[in-house]
Amino acid sequence: MSKPKVCVICKGGIEQKKTPEGKVYWDSGENAEPYAEGRCCGSCNDIFVIPARMEDMMKAAAMRARREKSRQLQGRLPGLPNDER
Ligand SMILES: [Zn+2]
Repeated sequence: MSKPKVCVICKGGIEQKKTPEGKVYWDSGENAEPYAEGRCCGSCNDIFVIPARMEDMMKAAAMRARREKSRQLQGRLPGLPNDER
């Protein structure tokens, strides 16, 4: 039960989180998705996984915005500046 888990990114050991009483309550690290598949240590999570996740979120947001925009544009085809005075 106490075999050390290994980070899929740095291959180092995953740190165990302990209560103030020294009881291990978490030893499975962090979810390494979308950077890698599996579990990773806390520092790899901060350095690699969170930025990758942010990037994914940014991409998803940009995609959503683009889709939204093109829907708006399609509403006023053929795209001439017809509200110019
Ligand atoms: Zn690591």
